[in-house]
Amino acid sequence: MAKKDYYETLGVSKSASEAEIKKAYKRLAMKYHPDKNQDNKAEAEAKFKEVKEAYEVLTDAQKKAAYDQYGHAAFEQGHGAGGGGFGGFGGFGGGSAFDDIFSDFFGGGRGRSQTSSRGADLQYNISLTLEEAAAGVSKEIKVPTWVICDVCHGQGTEKASDVMTCETCHGAGVVQMRQGFFAVQQECPTCHGRGKVVKNPCKKCHGEGRVQKTKTLSVTIPAGVDTGSRIRLSGEGEAGLNGAPAGDLYVQMQIKPHAIFERDGTNLHCEIPINIALASLGGEVEVPTLNGKVSLTIPAETQTGKVFRLRGKGVKSLRGSSIGDLYCHVVVETPVNLTSKQKELLKELGESFKADKSSKHSPKEKSFFDKVKKFFG
Ligand SMILES: [Zn+2]
Ligand SMILES: [Zn+2]
Repeated sequence: MAKKDYYETLGVSKSASEAEIKKAYKRLAMKYHPDKNQDNKAEAEAKFKEVKEAYEVLTDAQKKAAYDQYGHAAFEQGHGAGGGGFGGFGGFGGGSAFDDIFSDFFGGGRGRSQTSSRGADLQYNISLTLEEAAAGVSKEIKVPTWVICDVCHGQGTEKASDVMTCETCHGAGVVQMRQGFFAVQQECPTCHGRGKVVKNPCKKCHGEGRVQKTKTLSVTIPAGVDTGSRIRLSGEGEAGLNGAPAGDLYVQMQIKPHAIFERDGTNLHCEIPINIALASLGGEVEVPTLNGKVSLTIPAETQTGKVFRLRGKGVKSLRGSSIGDLYCHVVVETPVNLTSKQKELLKELGESFKADKSSKHSPKEKSFFDKVKKFFG
C-alpha cells in the first residue's frame, strides 16, 4: 500500500511553517483521540499514528530535509546494509502512539512513562575514502555506550528474588490520574516508571541494569553512500534502563576528498592534462578510473576545456543499479623545462605560424584580435 504524503496527511502545504504544522497536528490529534472515538478506536488510532508520524518528521529539520528530498524512501529499511536498514530514521518511538500527546498539548503535564526509559539513540561519524564509498566496505567501529550489565543481566540486582513488582503501580510504571476531560497517566512516584523495586542493588551497575562500555561493531556499508548518508543499526544505541529496549545507532558518512576525482552524486569528474603536441595531433592517453586505468582517444585539434564522458565509470547509485559517468576535463598544458632542442623546434613552429598571415592555426586568437581591432578602431 502506498504511503500517504506527510503533507497531505496533515493537510498542509509543502511550504507550511512549523507553527502551521503544529496547529494541524493538534487539530487532527484531538479529532482522532480515542476518548472521542469510542466506536471505532482501532481506526482512530491508526489514523492518529499516521498523523503523529507525519508530524514527527516534518517538525524535525533533518528528517524533513530527508523526506523532502527522498520521500518515504528516506525512512525505509532493507536497502542491503548488514545489521540494519539503510538510511532510515525508522522506529518512531517505542511506546503507544498516545505517549507524547499530553506533553505536546499541556507542556509536559505528566511524568516520564516507563517507555521513555528506552536507551538513547547514538550517532557515530565515519570517514570513508571515495573508493570505499563507491565499492562498499565493512568497517569496525568502536562506540562508547551503555550496555546491559553482565553481572545482573539488566535486572539491577544479583538475586532475582530481590526484584519485586512495585506495589504502587502493580508493575505498570505509571498511575492513572483524572484531569478534567482526560485520563492522564503519570509516572509512578514509587518506582519512577520502572515497574519494579530492587532490594539489594547490583554492585557493578548500582541497580541501573546497565554499565558504560566501548562496544566494537562491524558495519557493512553498501556501495554508493555519499557524505550525509546514514545507516541505522537497530538496537545498537544505549541500553535502556532496567531491561527497557536499547536505542538505535546511526552511522553517519563523511567522504574524504580524493586526489584525482571530484564526486557529484553518482558522477565523477577529473582533469586530464595533455601536452600541445598530443592536443594538436591527437593520440591515446591513459586515464584513471575507480577500477583501474582505461585508454582514452584524444582526437586531433583538441582544445583545453574539452570534456570526454566515460559512461558507467562513475559511482553506483545507492538506490537502484544505475552507475554514473566519469567526465574527463582536458587541460592543454604549456610545456616547461625545455631542452635547447625543444626550444629550437618550438621557435621554428612559432615562425611558421607567424609566416601564415591567415592565422588559421589559432582560430580563437584570430577572432580575439579581430575584436581588439574593432574595439580600438
Ligand atoms: Zn548490574
Ligand atoms: Zn511503581
